[in-house]
Amino acid sequence: MAKLKLALYWAASCGGCDVAVLDINEKILDVAEMADIVLWPVALDFKYHHIEAMEDKSIDVCLFNGAVRNSEQEKIARLLRAKSKTMVVFGSCACFGGIPALGNFTDRAEIFERAYVEAPSNDNPGRTFPETVTQVDGGELELPEFYDTVLTLAQVVDVEYFMPGCPPPVDLILKVVDALATGQLPPVGSVIASDKALCDECDRKKEDKKITKIWRPHEIIPDPERCLLEQGIICCGPATRGGCGLRCIKANMPCRGCFGPPPGVLDQGAKLVSAIASIYQTNSEEEIARMVEEIVDPAGTFYRFGLADSMLKRKRL
Ligand code: SF4
Ligand code: SF4
Ligand code: SF4
Repeated sequence: MAKLKLALYWAASCGGCDVAVLDINEKILDVAEMADIVLWPVALDFKYHHIEAMEDKSIDVCLFNGAVRNSEQEKIARLLRAKSKTMVVFGSCACFGGIPALGNFTDRAEIFERAYVEAPSNDNPGRTFPETVTQVDGGELELPEFYDTVLTLAQVVDVEYFMPGCPPPVDLILKVVDALATGQLPPVGSVIASDKALCDECDRKKEDKKITKIWRPHEIIPDPERCLLEQGIICCGPATRGGCGLRCIKANMPCRGCFGPPPGVLDQGAKLVSAIASIYQTNSEEEIARMVEEIVDPAGTFYRFGLADSMLKRKRL
């Protein structure tokens, strides 16, 4: 049987999704047996012009991780879309914008000001900022354009499958590897995870208890048997798709929402606000205001992974 052609790409990414691919351990040998890797910037020295020279749709599968934050990433996303039969949106940053999309609460000018002027380690009295084109002796230097708005991959190109997770867990990656090996891929548009909310997969005791105080995870040691949300720790389980194997919950840590919203939920942050509001035990406006104050960084808590894909998308420019 002819080997599949496989491309792996990282856009606005931390590298963790690429490490997750290596975490499949000896199964990587199965991947090597069934597929020739044609692009993997983190590991192999292929060049973009190698991909440009390929015929359209000649790559069987592209695993694309990271959000789209600059013009180079958008260009490569479009190139890989043209060359690939199947695009798998790999990891929370590519699926929902992820951590890079928290930058959508600000804009390029503010980010550059902070990164190149205000940060204490800077010494930049001349206010030098990166330019897309810089004249130097011997020619021009080019940098990609840094966008105001971080985008999900599906906001840039059509895609076939979504694999959420920060990073995606090994068993889900293996599921895709097996599906590729057998040719039994799920219907186009599928999210390779569970169709339930995380709370529906969690067997912690839920007693319908109301809360009067919000705790940060480092402030208390929670009862490992009871629902974390009912102990006053913000757990994103009600607003998060299941399928991760309850990775954080089993470590007695709250879910941060990396699998994105469950089916039928349009806006993960709004769903979480509603879930938390429903367990507050007070009708007093003062008490509610006090508890809201206890939520440190509400925007980052409710939209940690999903701002680019939410109804808000970004702050108004
Ligand atoms: S999804 Fe998580 S692990 Fe993957 S690139 Fe984004 S931040 Fe890194
Ligand atoms: S809120 Fe968290 S701890 Fe509680 S049931 Fe849902 S996933 Fe489990
Ligand atoms: S428990 Fe939540 S944050 Fe942790 S891996 Fe699962 S979906 Fe992601």
